[in-house]
Amino acid sequence: MSLELEKINCPLCGAEKSELFLKTRDRFNLKGEFKFEIVTCAGCKFTFLNPRPTPESISAFYESEDYQPFLSTQSGLTFWDRIYLTVRSFTLAGKRRKISKLKSSGSILDMGCGTGEFLHEMQQHGWRVEGLEMEKKAAEFARTEYNLSVRTQELQDCYFPDKSFDVITLWHVLEHLYEPKESLKKMRNLLKDDGFILIAVPNISSFDARFYKKNWIALDAPRHLFHFTPETMRAFCKTAGLVIKKFYQLPMDAFFNCLMSERIILKNNAFGKLLSPLYFLRGFSTANISIFESLRLGRQKKRLGSSILYFVQKQEELS
Ligand SMILES: [Zn+2]
Repeated sequence: MSLELEKINCPLCGAEKSELFLKTRDRFNLKGEFKFEIVTCAGCKFTFLNPRPTPESISAFYESEDYQPFLSTQSGLTFWDRIYLTVRSFTLAGKRRKISKLKSSGSILDMGCGTGEFLHEMQQHGWRVEGLEMEKKAAEFARTEYNLSVRTQELQDCYFPDKSFDVITLWHVLEHLYEPKESLKKMRNLLKDDGFILIAVPNISSFDARFYKKNWIALDAPRHLFHFTPETMRAFCKTAGLVIKKFYQLPMDAFFNCLMSERIILKNNAFGKLLSPLYFLRGFSTANISIFESLRLGRQKKRLGSSILYFVQKQEELS
């Protein structure tokens, strides 16, 4: 596998100067020599992977059979895979309920729809659905298993009429996109004037991110190119003419992030199998602390959940 890296300026403010935040390995290649660097912009404090693999060389990093978003296409699941799938089945109905509070039905575009379970859930409840997924095997699974309309195209290259969608969703997708500002602008064009963009991303300022440091699963180098906080997400939206209407933590994600971070630590431990229950217990406790810390600080308007769901709308035009 050839790894070509590119160095970038801050994707938010354009500054060249940054400070090293931490170094981490690819979680699918923990024994590998190579460490990826995550930096914090000296200007606006945005945290991102730098240098990063070029767009041409990134696809190799999505090919691990353990990569959770595409697990539906695999057989022979492990204990940890089953935890993931159980958590996901709980969250599917929850996602639908959040959206039906905004609108009872309409059209929805899911960016990075993976194997299509979320769109299938929405379609079953009367929504017109479209999906985008760059991973061919996952996209094909969504088409054949659920009969979904899924395009294997970059957003910039696909044609939808302006103002086509009531809702656009990015469930842990924005952090993977090479051009987040341009993507947000394009989504703004595709959104109806009263539509919503729902963006779920891990929160680098969460308790569990600070606790697990280089082993925090949501660093997910080099697949995660960016690490948002509520402040930097607000700034990104503003550059695209969008505004955050509300946001809150996703408690199930705290369990997923903490348990899977424990799994990374476990893989590095020779007595891993024996100690497995202890790691599981610590992950479970850390998730609870993360959730409650976020709730406590939430009252002071500082939400620090493991992952955050942002409800974004078009900024009203200045007249
Ligand atoms: Zn910056």
